[in-house]
Amino acid sequence: MSSETDVIVLGAGMAGLGAALHLQARGREVAIVDRRGPAEETSYGNAGLIQAEAVSPYSFPRDLRRTLDVLLGRSTEAWLHWPSLLTTAPWLLHYWRQGTPERIAAVTAAAAQLIARTVAEHQALFTAAGVEGLIQSKGYLRVFRTEQRLEAAAATQEAESARWGIAYEALSPAQIAEREPHLAQDLPGGLAGALWMTHPLGALDPGDVGKAYAQLFEARGGRVLIGDAQTLAQEGAGWTVATAEGSVRAKDVVIALGPWSLDVLRPLKVTPPLGVKRGYHRHFALKGNAALGGHVVDEEKGFVLVPNKRGVRLTIGAEFARRDATPSAKPMAMVEPVARGLFPLGEALEETPWMGARPCLPDMLPVVGPIPGHKGLWGHFGHHHLGFTLGPTTGRLLAEMMTGEAPFTDPAPYRVDRF
Ligand SMILES: Cc1cc2nc3c(=O)[nH]c(=O)nc-3n(C[C@H](O)[C@H](O)[C@H](O)COP(=O)(O)OP(=O)(O)OC[C@H]3O[C@@H](n4cnc5c(N)ncnc54)[C@H](O)[C@@H]3O)c2cc1C
Repeated sequence: MSSETDVIVLGAGMAGLGAALHLQARGREVAIVDRRGPAEETSYGNAGLIQAEAVSPYSFPRDLRRTLDVLLGRSTEAWLHWPSLLTTAPWLLHYWRQGTPERIAAVTAAAAQLIARTVAEHQALFTAAGVEGLIQSKGYLRVFRTEQRLEAAAATQEAESARWGIAYEALSPAQIAEREPHLAQDLPGGLAGALWMTHPLGALDPGDVGKAYAQLFEARGGRVLIGDAQTLAQEGAGWTVATAEGSVRAKDVVIALGPWSLDVLRPLKVTPPLGVKRGYHRHFALKGNAALGGHVVDEEKGFVLVPNKRGVRLTIGAEFARRDATPSAKPMAMVEPVARGLFPLGEALEETPWMGARPCLPDMLPVVGPIPGHKGLWGHFGHHHLGFTLGPTTGRLLAEMMTGEAPFTDPAPYRVDRF
């Protein structure tokens, strides 16, 4: 059995869902096709922060000591997977080249236009999907262990806040203890202080939020189908994809396959420099009467503590590796004891950590827009560290472009052929 629709969205992560909901709101009939189901991959495993403050990109550190620590496997923030080096080196070089002050300033100016909308876009969907209970609106804490790092971060934050109107408050160790009494109780020397980012939102379980958005999409008449995006084929003036419910045909197709987007684009000879930064999480029970009030980011050690329905989700940093290389045990083995020093984690709730891959272009901006040379094909991928935050916002931008509306911001920085 085959069917027709206006738009096929390939991928049911936050990027696919964000685009599908905005296309639907503009009167398009939409089918989402995913080989698993909504929010089962990267959009399940993240830290759930809606980062209303994250205007500057996660650029390649130009600090020699931090880079050396990564190369030598001494950092708890990032790891280089040496067996993947032949594959990852060209991308890493590209990423490094994008880390100049001029490029960072240009990327920040573009990202700020997106970031400014993120909370409002999600809030409209939380209300419509009835998931307000899964969201905390108490911001998050960036905690620092040393005066030196705290002072440097505070100076940068002050300048960024003045330029982009980002709210935050500096907290003393006593003020941190008032908000999070179980934090740093046994940390030798305690914490130096924190920057409390007051406006971001925090999802307790990002996967549940994604699933609720998918239900909203279906309740509004959309279809979520199981199928393999790699069956995408051009047919006359349109495109078809094979699904468990027969083939679906549409004039327009959105590629929102996150770290798998090149699996479909490469055969079409479209090869933007999409790399990955792999990340891990593990859930822990709460120890004794310990409680975690909100999201806490350990800025010096590079991990996030997330209050979660199962206890605490510990999410950790960036591993530069081939997307499909076997998961590494070392990152979580290094970070877990360090995290236990900051917060009393109970027993681990899974045998092995979850692993996912952040889809990253070297400038840390996503692709949003048409795929030149392939009529009806659109890209919506590469949301790097911020796909949970950005999905509905860049989804709006894409839907505006696809339906001929005036885009709310200049889409040029997100062109697929910008490299
Ligand atoms: C540890 C970690 C912490 C993070 N924390 C945050 C955070 O706090 N805030 C934030 O904003 N972002 C965060 N991120 C980033 C964020 O998770 C990603 O940017 C985002 O999930 C990407 O969404 P996506 O929809 O592009 O990809 P995905 O969620 O991976 O979705 C891609 C979809 O494509 C489907 N697919 C793949 N191949 C095929 C195929 N052949 N056929 C059919 N379907 C296919 C998959 O099943 C999947 O559903 C974090 C990431 C990690 C790893």
